[in-house]
Amino acid sequence: MRITFNGAAQVVTGSCHFVETGGVKFLLDCGLFQGSEELEDLNPKFTFDPKEVDFVILSHGHLDHCGRLPYLVKRGFRGKIYATSGTIDISRLILMDAAQVQEEQLKTVNRRRLREGKKRRELLYTLDDVFDTFNHFKPCEYHKWYQVGPVKFRFLDAGHILCSETVELEVEGKRVVFSGDIGNRGKPLIRDPETPPKADVVIMETTYANRKHKSFKESVEEFKEAILSTFERGGVVLIPTFALERAQDILYILKKMYEKEELPPCKVFLDSPLAISVTKTFRRHPECLEERVLKELEQKGDIFDFPYLEFTRRVEDSKKINDYRGRAIIIAGNGMCTGGRILHHLKHRAWDERNSIIFVGYQAEGTTGRQIVEGAKKIKVFNETIAVKLKVYTINGFSSHADQPQLLDWVKSAAGKNSRVILVHGEKPVMEQFVPLVENGVDVTPVMPELYSSITV
Ligand SMILES: [Zn+2]
Repeated sequence: MRITFNGAAQVVTGSCHFVETGGVKFLLDCGLFQGSEELEDLNPKFTFDPKEVDFVILSHGHLDHCGRLPYLVKRGFRGKIYATSGTIDISRLILMDAAQVQEEQLKTVNRRRLREGKKRRELLYTLDDVFDTFNHFKPCEYHKWYQVGPVKFRFLDAGHILCSETVELEVEGKRVVFSGDIGNRGKPLIRDPETPPKADVVIMETTYANRKHKSFKESVEEFKEAILSTFERGGVVLIPTFALERAQDILYILKKMYEKEELPPCKVFLDSPLAISVTKTFRRHPECLEERVLKELEQKGDIFDFPYLEFTRRVEDSKKINDYRGRAIIIAGNGMCTGGRILHHLKHRAWDERNSIIFVGYQAEGTTGRQIVEGAKKIKVFNETIAVKLKVYTINGFSSHADQPQLLDWVKSAAGKNSRVILVHGEKPVMEQFVPLVENGVDVTPVMPELYSSITV
């Protein structure tokens, strides 16, 4: 069996591993490179011919795992894409949004590239390619074995986002485990990651292999205090958030605060059409929810709705929020303030010291979110300079990714001293800190393949 790493190799995005075994060729994920122009420039490159790929196994609906599927289809892929039905529903929403965003941004991106003397970027795919991709999806259930040619596989719950999967495969008499993204334990809505079986080959993510998260409970307390002190100042709370999982976690936490009467009367706006659609997807996939949440859904009919909550899908309704003067929490995309409706809210609220912004997710270098976290006094929003006087809070414990101790527990279950351990989906310096821990814990030296390199196992 030969694995060629077409993404997420010594970086965290672009997850795409090309496997050749027993006369078949398949992909584990087919995700988009994101985060910098250098990485995005890699998106058109595959080491294989998409026409020769027999099938794809998809671990979850984040763009860095599913975002190149329409490009694969556009380049001639004709096989099936296997995933849980929840992952398929989420991928549909995420891919439609991605195609629209790419099309909207292409003109601006190319104007800038030409000024910098760089080559014009081609559109990776259109909405039509996304719709073509939908025909290839094949829904699978957790724990049920599927056979495609000589490859047997089944999905375990990765506990990362709704309906995410860890993949267990039987190939050439060997057991292979592909972690997908491993979830953070104790999240409010979905189950914890399942314990993986012992495998001969372990391909695992290492996003946060160098850090320890604050506990979820502690983070909820910090979050509550940030909201309450903003209201005491007579301010409004802005929460920039990712549309998938984080937005729903936040809604659920706010609902619980409301039920315990910890939240004073205030409006909660979910101002993101994509987050609203994803929230509805949660209601359609009770099979992926934590038992306690499932019971609540059965008893009350809903897990998110509470009297203060308002969904603002239409642009006119979003604009009306600007004039709202009462207590309010505004949840809007995108999570790093590089685009989306949060920019409008920053323009209208960032200059007022009574307000606050609460970051609940990672802020990558170079983003407006990171500038604010690092104490910028002014930011550029739509070419206008805006003073940053609002209070800034950062809550670190809401991550969807396992931290170092959790990753170590995971690999101790999956690997024995005769296993091959392959680290992916992590920055090289981060993985280097994890290697000695695996050596001590499992008695195996893991490898960190380079981008486009191959390993024969
Ligand atoms: Zn993910």
